[in-house]
Amino acid sequence: MICSKCSEGAIVSQHYSGLRLCRGHFIQDFESRATETVHKNNMIKDGERIAVAVSGGKDSTALLFCLCNILAKRDVELVAVTVDEGIAGYRDDTIKAARAIAKQLAVEQHIVSFREEYGYNLDEMVPGKKVAPCTYCGVFRKNALNRAAKHLGADKVATGHNLDDEAQSVMMNYLKGDFERLMRLRPGRAQRGLVPRIKPLREMPEKEIALYCMVNEVFTESRECPYASLSLRADVRDMMNRLESLFPGTKQSTVQGFEKMARKEQGGYAQMELAACRECGEPCVKGLCKACELLGLLRSDSF
Ligand code: SF4
Ligand SMILES: [Zn+2]
Ligand SMILES: [Zn+2]
Repeated sequence: MICSKCSEGAIVSQHYSGLRLCRGHFIQDFESRATETVHKNNMIKDGERIAVAVSGGKDSTALLFCLCNILAKRDVELVAVTVDEGIAGYRDDTIKAARAIAKQLAVEQHIVSFREEYGYNLDEMVPGKKVAPCTYCGVFRKNALNRAAKHLGADKVATGHNLDDEAQSVMMNYLKGDFERLMRLRPGRAQRGLVPRIKPLREMPEKEIALYCMVNEVFTESRECPYASLSLRADVRDMMNRLESLFPGTKQSTVQGFEKMARKEQGGYAQMELAACRECGEPCVKGLCKACELLGLLRSDSF
């Protein structure tokens, strides 16, 4: 298989573009598409400080590496934020990987932990509870990232969500019939107390992100979180992967179809105004934020 742009051997074949690319042209293509995503959604402005959520997994490693390259000539400051949820036998290794990539790229890094922020590790939150581990994890991670970003004076929080994650999120909300949450997947306008979130790799297939890490020789921890199999997302991911192998392009069309629909529904689903949580001051829809609601449940269970 020969590269469509030169005479080198190709390492990837993109069914959606019809291109076969060698190592050099793959890196060029990946970074120019990420640049395009950032540019067309006006994600990053000169003079901004961007908090990059870096867990040490492949997506966030690729994100930090890619942003360092594509923003090298711009006046943008990156700071890595790593959240330690406290997942034994898993998170310690990914945190080592996160430290290593931040050091390699000379990016300042801050680590925040669930234990320090909320008084419990994720492992201590979940036994015997009706709430799924990923619910605790997602709510507290978002809360911790937002607080850390504000503390660090960041203008945006960048996360490593990829095309597969986006397609799964769209499908999960369809399956739950949760149109409200589905519409929250649109890029949002600025809200008081909430550092805007950006997803520069949202158009990149997961496989290309893994390849990007591999060809750039950046180490990533590839083990799966022990709680991952307990989530609806794991089933949706398997279903989407099966559909993608039978009907290439399914993930892209899932996301693109949602975006078309979201543009049409723009007026009908206006973004909700957020209030400040009465316990912690973080933004929330009702009077109490989800993190404080879950903390209340955890505390009442421990007595
Ligand atoms: S799989 Fe669930 S518990 Fe594990 S890191 Fe992801 S969200 Fe957290
Ligand atoms: Zn080439
Ligand atoms: Zn709160």
